Amino acid sequence: MYRLTLAVLVLTGAAPALAADRAPRPVLLKPARVFDGVTARPHDGWVVLVRGERIEAAGPAGDVKVPGDARVIELPHATLLPGLIDAHTHLLLHPYNEASWDDQVLKEPLALRVCRATNHARRVLLSGFTTIRDLGTEGAGYADVGLKQAIEEQIIPGPRLLVVTRAIVATGSYGPRGFAPEVRVHQGAEEADGETLRRVVRDQVGRGADWIKVYADSWNPTKGGSPTFSVDELKLMVETARSAGCPVAAHAMTREGLRRAVLAGVETIEHGDGGDVEVFRLMAKHGVPLCPTLAAGEAMSKYRGWRPGTDPEPPALKSKRATFKEALEAGVTVVNGSDMGVFAHGDGARELELLVDYGMKPAQALRAATSAAARALHLGDRVGAVKPGLLADLVAVEGDPTGDIHALRQVRLVMKGGVLYREPGR
Ligand SMILES: [Zn+2]
Repeated sequence: MYRLTLAVLVLTGAAPALAADRAPRPVLLKPARVFDGVTARPHDGWVVLVRGERIEAAGPAGDVKVPGDARVIELPHATLLPGLIDAHTHLLLHPYNEASWDDQVLKEPLALRVCRATNHARRVLLSGFTTIRDLGTEGAGYADVGLKQAIEEQIIPGPRLLVVTRAIVATGSYGPRGFAPEVRVHQGAEEADGETLRRVVRDQVGRGADWIKVYADSWNPTKGGSPTFSVDELKLMVETARSAGCPVAAHAMTREGLRRAVLAGVETIEHGDGGDVEVFRLMAKHGVPLCPTLAAGEAMSKYRGWRPGTDPEPPALKSKRATFKEALEAGVTVVNGSDMGVFAHGDGARELELLVDYGMKPAQALRAATSAAARALHLGDRVGAVKPGLLADLVAVEGDPTGDIHALRQVRLVMKGGVLYREPGR
């Protein structure tokens, strides 16, 4: 009864959601074209047949046998693509121009943060992102594990979630900071060092982490950036996590932090701002993708007063543009990861717009948010492409995003696991 009441609330809420039970009838989606997540050119005139939670067929209209009881959804002028993936989000944060990170960690009750996060999850899904890897609760403990469960049990609408729980930092290297040395304040991640790292990794895995997130370096306003964990410490975490079936993602902003993380065997690098050609070549050689978080960098500059179009581009963004180009030239795989939470949830398309603005072709950026992201997240056999047998995580947008990436702003349909959450006219 309780569940039923909540489901009705979702149905009648502000979101145009249709979080009903899975439609028993097959669904035929008829867009103008399909971007399959892999091929650069979209397929004109393709249709996609969904049965239950999976894609049953995809191909030219004449080649797909349509069951007599299929429900047909016409999507004229629209492009159908795999549900988008963001590999770096924070559902439990909200934009820093609303409240500073320190205030969110130290002053906001956990229940408040979780309430906000439910809204965030819905906005993310309805904006076309059907899978996210949430890279740290930033002081909100293990709340991501519960959010994931609430989404899986259809208590709230939201994307598929991969979670990391608290994330791991070296003692004394994170925040909030700036207090008298005698004062201990609640930290935004779990501190550990040396042999203790083994226990902390196991503890986070035991509490529900799908990935382990570590901070390979730290930023101090007076000292600048510096690496934290040794290669041996990072290796210990990677080895412990891997034996429990968990990959490791590393926040790395300094060249040395990047180098150590890659050598230790982490599977994705987050941010990568201080990288150079040599370390990007090392990433490419080891097959370690980069989540560049361009949208977070842009948002931070705006919060500091930058007015795009009026003021010259700030040095931090100029430098990011240059290092991102170096990473591309070095052959690093880029995976869409925005650091959403630093900026508004539901604005995830901004990262793809910036990937294109910083030098990728629209189809490359779309691949970074579909098939490439799915592969990096070990989900390639479930999502990230329009292919028979995969889960029916599908999004339709008005226009053709392979020509104009801004088309991602015009979302017409969102389906996750065969369930429609948004459709034309609803
Ligand atoms: Zn982040």
